[in-house]
Amino acid sequence: MAVCEIISVGTEILLGNILDTNSRFLSRELAAMGISVFHRTTVGDNKERLAQAVRTALSRSDIVIATGGLGPTADDITKETCCEVMGSRLVFDEEAAARIRGYFSGQKRTMPESNFKQAYVPEDGVVFTNENGTAPGAGIKKNGKCLVVLPGPPFEMEPMFLKYVKPFLREYSGSVLVSSEIYTMGLGESAMAEAVSDLLELENPTVAPYCRMGEAFLRLTAMAENEERARELIKPVSDEIVRRLGNSVYGVDCGNIETRTVNLLKEKGLTLATAESCTAGLVAKRITDIPGASTVFKHGVITYANEVKVKVLGVDPGTLAAHGAVSEETALEMAAGIRRISGADIGVSVTGFAGPDADEEGKKPGLIYTAIDTADTRICKKTETGRNDRNYNRFVSASRALNLVREYAEKRGRTNEEQ
Ligand code: ATP
Repeated sequence: MAVCEIISVGTEILLGNILDTNSRFLSRELAAMGISVFHRTTVGDNKERLAQAVRTALSRSDIVIATGGLGPTADDITKETCCEVMGSRLVFDEEAAARIRGYFSGQKRTMPESNFKQAYVPEDGVVFTNENGTAPGAGIKKNGKCLVVLPGPPFEMEPMFLKYVKPFLREYSGSVLVSSEIYTMGLGESAMAEAVSDLLELENPTVAPYCRMGEAFLRLTAMAENEERARELIKPVSDEIVRRLGNSVYGVDCGNIETRTVNLLKEKGLTLATAESCTAGLVAKRITDIPGASTVFKHGVITYANEVKVKVLGVDPGTLAAHGAVSEETALEMAAGIRRISGADIGVSVTGFAGPDADEEGKKPGLIYTAIDTADTRICKKTETGRNDRNYNRFVSASRALNLVREYAEKRGRTNEEQ
């Protein structure tokens, strides 16, 4: 199997000013092509250190891909340095120059002279057109090694890689790796892993447990001669996991709970309205992050203060006095209130303590109530995250509210089928 090393060039990456998302993108794409990435290196805008990094990478890898440092300024040295190490001369390319001129005139801007630097390309290489910027990329295959240089901005690099570099690397492509993710909520990573512990021993596909902000998921990865075969290997294992984990699974390959919920509501023709306290609009925000949310989302209110819960949602002041704002009773009345004023099929509410401090009643941060109210159901769920991390508690509160809606919408489907 061919081995590739990625070099991200830029002092701002080393300083932590920007995150190296290019390496992540390239690693994923290369894995899917069956090309192994054994090393990733980051180096600043320094000629000697970059040359050393490129030499080292070429000594241990078949392919080296460098991103960043193709700009017109003096500290952009990637192309020159890489070509020097490869023993390739840079020559002026009239076609590249014309494209750069065209890019500036298309934006009604005068082209600075320094941009001509980007029109120099390796004499014995292939030029990758930059359709979203000025710096073209380049690839050189020489002495059994392959070197690719790409621009730094992801919106330039990614389309260039997909359109031009993937075909350029085709001869190195081996077996493909295909992954599938099964997302769970409310189960926790260890309980999830225990339920499928025997499957964690499998070799193809491999099954690995992970967690992220209040949820746990399993990644299944299969290696095969083509994508179709890899998916065939994944399917029975994925089905078995979904069967074992049951309702804790909120989706497979859907990315996140908001995408799954919105798609499910669309599928079932259901509408939603939100009443939020501690999440202050986060549930509504995450729903409307999903394209097409307007067909399912009707109305959202933030009722932070108790008097607004009473005035806007019709929560009974007696309920607030007897049980407090963070209680099952208040959550249910909030959900009923928003359903009534919006006319949506489902009213969903969130009330909780985000922390970091305990509230005056002594209730702990991370205590959350989420509720839904529909024509046929009233459900409230209590969650205790046990954390005093405000960000975490708010995010998890919103996720739990979305999951409650997802569970209801899924059951509605089953009821309809049964009828
Ligand atoms: P430019 O012509 O814009 O100068 P360039 O090819 O010289 O492009 P850099 O100057 O190294 O690239 O980086 C330009 C911008 O691209 C950075 O400020 C950053 O926003 C983004 N960028 C660069 N490298 C990376 C990376 N590895 N991951 C994510 N973003 C990156």
